Amino acid sequence: MPFDIKGLISERAGEGYALQSKHVNAQVPKMLHAIGFDKEFVRAEGAHYWDADGNRFLDMLAGFGVFGVGRNHPVVRQALHDVLESGIADMLQFDAPLLMGLLAEQLLARSPGLERVYFCNSGSEAVEAALKFARCATGKRRILYCDHAYHGLTAGTLSVNGAAEFRKGFDPLLPDTSVRFGNLDDLERELRRGDVAALLMEPIQGKGVNIAPEGFMRDAHVLLKAHGALLIADEVQTGLGRTGTFYAHHHDDAQPDIVTVAKALSGGFVPVGATLMRPGIFEKVYSSIDRVFVHASTFMGNALAMTAGLATLSVIDDEKLIDNANARGAELMQGLQAIAARQPSIIDIRGRGLMIGIEFGKPASLRGKAMWQTLNAARKGLFAQMVVVPLFTDHRILTQVAGDHMAVIKLIPPLTITSDDVQEFLTAFDAVMRTADKPSGLALDFGKTLVKQALNR
Ligand code: PMP
Repeated sequence: MPFDIKGLISERAGEGYALQSKHVNAQVPKMLHAIGFDKEFVRAEGAHYWDADGNRFLDMLAGFGVFGVGRNHPVVRQALHDVLESGIADMLQFDAPLLMGLLAEQLLARSPGLERVYFCNSGSEAVEAALKFARCATGKRRILYCDHAYHGLTAGTLSVNGAAEFRKGFDPLLPDTSVRFGNLDDLERELRRGDVAALLMEPIQGKGVNIAPEGFMRDAHVLLKAHGALLIADEVQTGLGRTGTFYAHHHDDAQPDIVTVAKALSGGFVPVGATLMRPGIFEKVYSSIDRVFVHASTFMGNALAMTAGLATLSVIDDEKLIDNANARGAELMQGLQAIAARQPSIIDIRGRGLMIGIEFGKPASLRGKAMWQTLNAARKGLFAQMVVVPLFTDHRILTQVAGDHMAVIKLIPPLTITSDDVQEFLTAFDAVMRTADKPSGLALDFGKTLVKQALNR
């Protein structure tokens, strides 16, 4: 019998959690069982997916931002089929693949001031390249990164990760230095030491949806230039239209020296990352024929990844997804602000386009305050988690808690969501929040979920 993937999937259906427990990361199924998220899904399309019973779920997480164009987009899917069927001669390693050149051309056409592209396979790798290239181009060693930053978990990117919990057990790391996000004084103080290669930052931080103060990237760049250092914008999560402009740094009129992208460029199908640079940087890294592969990766520029990237960029244009991110983002913002006005435990709504954070804080009422304190003493971030769980289990909407203090729910849906999807989310969120301060509400529900899951096991 030849290999039959469809047969294999149907024969082993339902074994996913047991196999994960036995052979992969056993903590994942454990966590999912505990919060009642332990479902199996059988089909996905756009901003929705379905479980085996035919229940439809709304996706406000987009696979951590991978599904910018939505799940199983027909245009990307067809392009991948076509390139597979063509029997393309891929990854010869000693040729100049057309598709790599074409995707570089398309990315650069959307990136004024940038001239060259390094391709890789993930966001972390795109940042790794940025760190190495910045050191090589400036001859300096130290990278500045921001508190609360997230740039990946490889050894290099962990060294510029702003959250201590990820580092524990993995040191020593590179001797890079953290500065306060959006703080020019910190930046200037470190630059004066004369050894800084670059400031690496997300224009909007994925952890907590913190937005850089207006003008910060532009002003930081002036300081960096004066000290012979580079500005690296990590747009792995914010890029490709999510925040309502192609890059989030466009909001600030900034012109970084290096920009990283990944996630959504994959079309949700093939891992891919890219590091884009202004003129002069590549020439320092690849300075002679001897150094032709001085930084490289086996799968870089493979035909499937490049095809997914090309098809994705064309879908973003053809379906005017950046305009949609703006319009649906504005609807979400407006609806959330109206709910926040009635809910004392919501202390901030912030974001741009379809990257929105809802921050919770101590409610004003005595009873609410007491509950908040009990829950947050028991486990940091429980309040936001208590909202995320019923959104999923009662309303079939997937969201995520994000942020160092775990008090922020982040919304990063596919850029294809409709006004109906927005309304569906707002109605569900409002219903969940209406029970928030009541002793019989959220806390009890959440407790019940935990007990029920424990008993089920
Ligand atoms: N940079 C940013 C801003 C990210 O959000 C992420 C992923 N969440 C990364 C880098 C790392 O990307 P990957 O997980 O693809 O390695």
